[in-house]
Amino acid sequence: MTKWVYMFREGNADMRNLLGGKGANLAEMTNLGLPIPQGFTVTTEACTNYYENGEQVSDEIRQQIFAALGKLEQLQGKTFGDVGDPLLVSVRSGARASMPGMMDTILNLGLNDEAVEGFARKTGNPRFAYDSYRRFIQMYSDVVMEVPKSFFEKIIDEVKEEKGVHYDTELTVEDLKVLVGRFKAVYKEAMGGEEFPQEPREQLMGAVQAVFRSWDNPRAIVYRRMNDIPGDWGTAVNVQAMVFGNMGDTSGTGVAFTRNPSTGEKGIYGEYLINAQGEDVVAGVRTPQPITKLEEDMPECYAEFMELAMKLEEHYRDMQDMEFTIQEGKLYFLQTRNGKRTAPAALRIACELVDEGKITEEEAVLRIEAKSLDQLLHPTFDAGALKAGKVIGSALPASPGAAAGKVYFTADEAKLAHERGERVVLVRLETSPEDIEGMHAAEGILTARGGMTSHAAVVARGMGTCCVSGCGEIKMNEDERYFELGGETVKEGDYISLDGTTGRIYLGDIRTKEAEIGGNFQRIMDWADKYRRMQVRTNADTPADTKKAVELGAEGIGLCRTEHMFFEPERIPKIRKMILSDTPEAREAALSELIPFQKGDFKAMYEALEGRPMTVRYLDPPLHEFVPTSPEDIEALAAEMGLSADEVREKCDDLHEFNPMMGHRGCRLPVTYPEIARMQTRAVMEAAIEVKAEQGYDIVPEIMIPLVGEKKELKFVKDIVVETAEKVKEEKGSDIAYHIGTMIEIPRAALLADEIAEEAEFFSFGTNDLTQMTFGFSRDDAGKFLDAYYKAKIYESDPFARLDLNGVGQLVEMAAEKGRKMRPGIKLGICGEHGGDPSSVEFCQKVGLDYVSCSPYRVPIARLAAAQAAINHEKTA
Ligand code: PEP
Ligand code: MG
Repeated sequence: MTKWVYMFREGNADMRNLLGGKGANLAEMTNLGLPIPQGFTVTTEACTNYYENGEQVSDEIRQQIFAALGKLEQLQGKTFGDVGDPLLVSVRSGARASMPGMMDTILNLGLNDEAVEGFARKTGNPRFAYDSYRRFIQMYSDVVMEVPKSFFEKIIDEVKEEKGVHYDTELTVEDLKVLVGRFKAVYKEAMGGEEFPQEPREQLMGAVQAVFRSWDNPRAIVYRRMNDIPGDWGTAVNVQAMVFGNMGDTSGTGVAFTRNPSTGEKGIYGEYLINAQGEDVVAGVRTPQPITKLEEDMPECYAEFMELAMKLEEHYRDMQDMEFTIQEGKLYFLQTRNGKRTAPAALRIACELVDEGKITEEEAVLRIEAKSLDQLLHPTFDAGALKAGKVIGSALPASPGAAAGKVYFTADEAKLAHERGERVVLVRLETSPEDIEGMHAAEGILTARGGMTSHAAVVARGMGTCCVSGCGEIKMNEDERYFELGGETVKEGDYISLDGTTGRIYLGDIRTKEAEIGGNFQRIMDWADKYRRMQVRTNADTPADTKKAVELGAEGIGLCRTEHMFFEPERIPKIRKMILSDTPEAREAALSELIPFQKGDFKAMYEALEGRPMTVRYLDPPLHEFVPTSPEDIEALAAEMGLSADEVREKCDDLHEFNPMMGHRGCRLPVTYPEIARMQTRAVMEAAIEVKAEQGYDIVPEIMIPLVGEKKELKFVKDIVVETAEKVKEEKGSDIAYHIGTMIEIPRAALLADEIAEEAEFFSFGTNDLTQMTFGFSRDDAGKFLDAYYKAKIYESDPFARLDLNGVGQLVEMAAEKGRKMRPGIKLGICGEHGGDPSSVEFCQKVGLDYVSCSPYRVPIARLAAAQAAINHEKTA
């Protein structure tokens, strides 16, 4: 019989896949002897089983849950639903990877009309008991039955108004009883006449199923896609005896980190609220006190907390993020996990842990999430522009970076504005998980409520988005779309700027500048370079991009898209002339005008590379991308070519293709117009020979023919290249070597890679086109329907961003093998967008590619991902 449910004392930290992160850590902390309210974990496999079983919890699982409940009752000496002293539990989700705010939590489960009386007697605090009951009805209705929260909030406001009070805390027991009655009536009405469940076991099963269901809510799906979490992992459910932080002034609840999650600085960092339940801190409804204040309020609890926090960090050898509750002077830990942190903090913590002798260099490399390095490359404010900026307020610096944009008050509007191409600052009273897409679309986030560990702060830090939270002075009017702060009124669409590092809020659009990279980054990158096996090159086609990429550690250029060199104003008329020429002579004449430009570019690129290699990819896009469309451009071209505007228009129309991406492009261009390959070869060879002579670099040009699907096609173009290259060498008296290779970006090329390797000295996988052609999805239009595919659970991620290992990956693996068989030692690389995506980089390591190539700003990510892939690969080899 499968074991679906584990008591905390039956698990340990290694059982993360089965018990989820939270469950495994609760088990580990129990084993370490920490004060943990006891409970049990329903496994992630039970969640998967629930979905396989048509969204039903099987009898076997149900029985095991009730058996575990029985054991918990014994441990606690309390009984579920007891009218004297009822056992109350919390029910929380806990997936393998932490998914903050994505899942739902229910507290105080087990209360009903009778148990609340018993609870009131036992605690001697009827107000507290009824407040707990009304919170439970509210949470249960919202999470389990999807009765909107707003129904209940309205009732609270009504009762407060009837009583003439402002705060919830001013409501009496009698008022709370009224609330409970009205809440139950709302529930009944919303549920078509069904009463609020009084049977605690029924409540428990409802809650467990709600957690399972929440694994598949739209917010969770978006979060998983953003974080590469597979949909079939499922979530565990943790059922834990309740402890109460809201039992008066010797109770409280808080969240703390063992190191600062923004900067990485060592030392306890966190906040807490006296007389509050955990959700009050996380939801950010009240602005909490710094944790150090606990030392004044409850010195003994503080000392115990500090000792245990350090013990946990020592045990996990990583910065911990802990939730705790103090119930009438007694401290409990509710959870611990390796804390989320900003990229600068991650680097600092990893380096300091190495220095403290706690982890190895390899472990430090594995500790940094490769994608998070993006944050380091994020902007800060231009110092001059900032001086002139007007500060209108300040609040908590929740997530670092600088942002400027137009104010929007709802996530949907922020998302739409972002889609219109605007820079957006999302301004909210507080954020909740529904806001995730709007937060993602925003450059910056400002909230009126919430501390450093509020939803807005945690999620923004995770995304690397600048966030300022808990701005108490702000007067918000979300309905009328404006806020007032520092004597200014800011309306929807007005610009503000946020500094997530200082917490300052500025009026207007302040110029930002690029990030600077510190010493810890360099140390981690040095370690990454020490352990990685694959080279990292960049995709660049200007000297400026090349310099930037080299600064960021690129070891050469893996893809220079030469067509990008033709779009500048003085060049485009020349290429247009070439395209619209009728005879080879006219084309050659036009091309000869382009040679100096192209050669000049190549020379500048070789110089910027200082001897590093460069793969030059020949002209690739459909020609019609170059033709003029505006009447002025058509007139100008007509004048230059001695034609009428109508004649030019007609020639342009002739270039129209029904499927240009599958049309006259790539190597098909030199097959029809060999002079294009001649011109490009002359430009590359002359540039290489000259820079070699002038600078002394040992340059070996790498010439790459795109979109090949057949050996003879490659041979045809290669012959032209070789003939021209040899001619140039002779003219220049040079013995320079050069390589000719191809992109593998058409499925037929992958299938026939062994034949193609007879002619190609290297392969570079063009996984953008290879994905397009394998799926038959247009790379320019797939975004329009991929959402529907995610919703229908056909695909989980965008195959243009994350390599499809099942299909496209198979082609890559096969082509690599065939290529190597035909030509041992053939150089293999990838230059599609996937070259900078960590999970795709891992695959490239697995199939034994020699290098990955990606855009300049992703070079550090690729270096780190390549090191992680190599370390993990060696571990499993
Ligand atoms: C590719 O197809 O993966 C590639 C790198 O080429 P391009 O994006 O220029 O088509
Ligand atoms: Mg391509």
